[in-house]
Amino acid sequence: MKIKQHTPYKNITFCCRDCGTKISWVSALQGQGRCKSCSSKGKYPSKETRKKLSESSRGKNNGMYVDGRSCIKKHCVDCGKLLSRPDANRCTL
Ligand SMILES: [Zn+2]
Ligand SMILES: [Zn+2]
Repeated sequence: MKIKQHTPYKNITFCCRDCGTKISWVSALQGQGRCKSCSSKGKYPSKETRKKLSESSRGKNNGMYVDGRSCIKKHCVDCGKLLSRPDANRCTL
């Protein structure tokens, strides 16, 4: 597959939808949205694993993990507040 050099996603952090490991935007947008180890497993972690992960990431990535493509950190250009929408530039549009 062809990958364009110029991409708006290159400065955005994407995380594996299963384990929260940082992955490339290519994996997030064109792949399964999972890291290599999770995509090679090809199955979802158990409920308990998910619970552990959500507990261990609490505080660090608080509230950023929503559906696997939402672990994107972008800050308001005016006040620096963390934005929930990756396509937004400011907390108030
Ligand atoms: Zn993973
Ligand atoms: Zn702001």
